[in-house]
Amino acid sequence: MRKSEGDGSAVRNGKSGRTKGRITLRALFAGLMIFTFSMTLIITLFASYRSEQQLLEARTLETNSREAQRIAESVDLLFDSIDRSLRTFAGEFIHDQKLKSSAEASRTLRLLYESTDYYAEVFVANPDGKVVAAYSGEPSDSRINNIEASLLKQAMRVRGSFQSLPYRDAQSGMAILSTDAIYAEDGTYQGVVGGILHMESDIIRDGLFGNRTIDEQNSFAYIVNEQATLIYHTDPARQSEDINSNQVISDLSQGRSGKQKWTSETDQRYLVAYTYSHTTNWGILVQTPNRWISEQQNEQLRRTLFVVLVPFFILVITTLWLADRIAAPFVSLTNFVARAAERPQDAAIPTVRRHWNREVDLLSGAVMRTVQEMKRQNRDLSDFAWKDSLTGLLNRRAIDETLQKLEGDNRHFALLLIDIDYFKSVNDRYGHAAGDTVLREVAHILEHTISSRDLCGRYGGEEFVVILPDLSLQETYQVAERLRVAVAAHENELGIPVTLSIGGAVSPMQSTQVDELLKLADRALYRAKERGRNTVVL
Ligand code: GH3
Ligand code: MG
Ligand code: MG
Repeated sequence: MRKSEGDGSAVRNGKSGRTKGRITLRALFAGLMIFTFSMTLIITLFASYRSEQQLLEARTLETNSREAQRIAESVDLLFDSIDRSLRTFAGEFIHDQKLKSSAEASRTLRLLYESTDYYAEVFVANPDGKVVAAYSGEPSDSRINNIEASLLKQAMRVRGSFQSLPYRDAQSGMAILSTDAIYAEDGTYQGVVGGILHMESDIIRDGLFGNRTIDEQNSFAYIVNEQATLIYHTDPARQSEDINSNQVISDLSQGRSGKQKWTSETDQRYLVAYTYSHTTNWGILVQTPNRWISEQQNEQLRRTLFVVLVPFFILVITTLWLADRIAAPFVSLTNFVARAAERPQDAAIPTVRRHWNREVDLLSGAVMRTVQEMKRQNRDLSDFAWKDSLTGLLNRRAIDETLQKLEGDNRHFALLLIDIDYFKSVNDRYGHAAGDTVLREVAHILEHTISSRDLCGRYGGEEFVVILPDLSLQETYQVAERLRVAVAAHENELGIPVTLSIGGAVSPMQSTQVDELLKLADRALYRAKERGRNTVVL
C-alpha cells in the first residue's frame, strides 16, 4: 500500500494524547524479532559453551592421565636401569678383586658412572661402611655427607638392592641413594657399590618429564611418595598448589591410578590425573588449572561473538526493514480511518495495492470497501438533503442557501424565476405521471442549456430557479430567451406543447438583497403571464 501523505499524523509520531506511551507496531515487531534472535543466540551459545567445557575437561583429564602414565613408565625405567647397572657392576668388583686397589676401583667406577647419564656420583664401600673409591666425572674423594653416610649404614644392613627415600641435600636439592651389595664367589659380603641421583638435575628432569615442564595449558606434574611427601615438582613456584585430597592419597597408597576434578582450599579448581609407580611406590600427578579451560572458552566465545555480530547486525537491519514493511499498511490504514472518521467527505480513498501479507491484504480491502460504502451513503444523504428527487436538480433549500451565500459574499448575479404555462391542464388531460415526465424533461433542457458556472433548481411545483453569476441585464435576457426557446422548440414524446414564462432580476443593478430580488423576479414573472405567457420579462 502506498504511504498516504498525511503519515506524520497521530499514529506515527504518537503525539496524540490517546497514543502517548503506546508501543508502535513497528517497534513491537522489531522488538519481538530481536528478542527472539537474541534469546536463541544466548541459548545456543550457552549450550555449546557447556558441551565444549565438558569436552575440554574430559580431553584435558585424558591428556593428563596419559602424561602421568608416561612419567610413571619413565620413573620405572630409570630405576630399573639403575638397579641393573649396579647389579652388573657389583659382579665386576668380585671378579677383578678391584676392591683391593683404589686405582682399579676408580676405573671401574668410571665405567659405571658413564654407563648411564643419571648418576651425580658413584662409589664403592667396604663392609665397614668406609668409602673405598668414588667417581663424579673425575676420580675424587668421597663427597658423601652426613645424611648419605647414615643412609649408607641402612644400605649395608639390607645386604641387597637398596634405594633410599628421597632426602634433601643442601647443595643439590632432592637426592636418592641407590646401592647393591657385593658378594665374593664364596659368598662372603664385600661391601656395596652405589650411586647418588640428584633428582633436580636437568638430565633427570628431562628424562622423567621431557623438557616441557610447563606446557601451554599451564599444566604441571609432581611426584609424591607413599607418605604423600613431595619428592619432585616440575614448577617449584606452584608447590603450594599440590594435591591435598584424601581421595587421591588413599587411591595412591593402595596403588590405584585415576583422574578427577579437585578444588583447592583457596577455591582454585584443577583437573588432576594420577598414576602409581610400582618400582618406586611413588605417585605421579599431572594437574591443570581449570582457569585455563575458562580462558580458552572465553577466547572462543569472543571469537564466536565477533563472527556472529556481523550477521546479527544484518538481521537487525533486515528486521527493522521488515517490521516497517509489515507495520506500514497498518499505520497508513489507521491514519486513513482516523481522517475518514473526522471528515469522511474529504478523505481521499488511497489506491489499494495487493499486500503480500494475507491478513493485511484482507484488512485493507475490508477497510477500503467499508469507507467506500460510507462515502456512498454520505453522498446519498447529502443528495437527499440538497437535491430534488423528481428532477435531480437542486431543491429549494439548496437554492436558498446558495442565494444567501452569494448575498453574503457580495457577488453579482442574476436570478430567473421560471414557471411552466398551463401546467395544471397537462395534469388534467394526460395525468399526473405525464406531468412528472414533462417536469423532468423541462429540468433536463434547463440544465443542459445553462453553462457550467450557472445553477439550476426546482423551486416548488412547476417552478424553477436559475442563478447566473456575474451577468449583465442584457446577457441575462439572452440566457432567459435561450431557455424559453429551447423548451418551446422541444417536442416531447407525448406531443404535449410546453412553454415557459420567465421573470428575472439582476443584482446589484436592481437590488443586492435576495428577498427583494425574488420579489422583483416574481413580479416580472406575473407580468410575463399577463402578457400571454411563453414570454421573458426582466
Ligand atoms: P399558469 O401557470 O399558466 O397560470 O397555469 P398553471 O396551470 O400552470 O397554474 P397553477 O399554478 O394553478 O398550476 C400548477 C399545477 O402544477 C398545480 C399542480 O397540480 C401541478 N403540480 C405541482 N407540482 C406537481 C408535480 O410535482 N407533479 C405534477 N404532475 N404536477 C404538479
Ligand atoms: Mg405555478
Ligand atoms: Mg404554471
